[in-house]
Amino acid sequence: MWTDMRPAVEMPRLFERGGDTVSFAGGLPDLDVLPLDAIARQMSGLVRLGGRIALQYSTPHVAQALVPAIGDLMGREGACPAAADLVPTSGSQMGLMAAGLALAEPGETVLVQTPVYPGAAAAFRTAGLRLRAIPRDARGLAPEGLRETILQLRREGRTARLAYCNPTFQNPTGATLPADRRRELLAVAGELDLTVIEDNPYGLLGFDGQTTDSLKALAPDRVVYLGTFSKVFAPGLRCGWIAAPREQAAALRRTTEVMALSPSPLAQAAIAAFHARSGWTELIDRYRAAYRERCALMADALERELGDGGPWTWRRPQGGFYLWLRHRDGLDTGPLAAVAAGHGVSFVPGSHFRIDGGPSDALRLCFSHVPRDRVAVGVSRLATALRGGAA
Ligand code: PMP
Repeated sequence: MWTDMRPAVEMPRLFERGGDTVSFAGGLPDLDVLPLDAIARQMSGLVRLGGRIALQYSTPHVAQALVPAIGDLMGREGACPAAADLVPTSGSQMGLMAAGLALAEPGETVLVQTPVYPGAAAAFRTAGLRLRAIPRDARGLAPEGLRETILQLRREGRTARLAYCNPTFQNPTGATLPADRRRELLAVAGELDLTVIEDNPYGLLGFDGQTTDSLKALAPDRVVYLGTFSKVFAPGLRCGWIAAPREQAAALRRTTEVMALSPSPLAQAAIAAFHARSGWTELIDRYRAAYRERCALMADALERELGDGGPWTWRRPQGGFYLWLRHRDGLDTGPLAAVAAGHGVSFVPGSHFRIDGGPSDALRLCFSHVPRDRVAVGVSRLATALRGGAA
């Protein structure tokens, strides 16, 4: 099993050279917007006043104090989970692994949105699951194709009862599944008794503050929702949650307990304290503004460098961290990563997001953490590399 496992998160680092390299590779948040002094004061207060609880072992339940912080986030996309249905995680990566272990038996097939977040593919494979792509068309996931694929698998005697997607500002394409498609997808899930795993780290990072109702909001009984504080607060706290239908929440809780006993109570307390003090609006607005600006710098530079009717095409992202660049004539972008590294710029080739690891005509550019004054330099180097210029 290990031989066909693809690396989950290491690969972007392979292409980072440090020094003068401009990295469009790793999907990191821009922590410059965090009010570090306020967080430091709150954390020190927590340790002084509540350290004997926050530094003690805990149970796999979301701390009472954190429930409003989660409700506030999920409510912005129309969902309102019961506290009893929440399971704490150390981030959505743990949620993916727990879902793969708790909600299916090894050998079953999980249907996944492609191109796929590689950490999801790696988690499901590590849980012993097989992967199949959910068919798609120009508007995104194709509900009819999902139905046909599931029925075909079942005719072949396979068990397929999980479907995974990252429907809003997707990693890696930046695309958002339209509302009508969400409803159709959930209708198919209802008809075929599928559980949909909704992975939603970026949903509140729409540049203009726009949101789309989450799948969880539309069909609470069908959807296992993976939430995380990594992109609206800080990934280093390793804190997230699962909101699941009651029975599945119980199974997920048992699994997460085996994985970690409980996620960090100190991290949960720190986030609860921040939310109680400041709420989410100001911080999320600051993140959104930072990414809106970076994305505009990148998209404008691409327009200048590659927007001359040449072979590269892309859509301007409306939110999230990523821009997906595609080659019209199907050029394999894999070999270009090394060429780009030679020019002092890094990206992740599209093959990394394929479930078969085959060649891809696309590449992922991450704009979220590039210093503002380096974006245009990076895009100019990228354009030179993509045009096949000498280093
Ligand atoms: N899902 C997706 C789609 C992601 O992009 C990421 C992080 N890059 C994760 C899950 C994992 O995030 P975390 O474990 O920090 O919550």
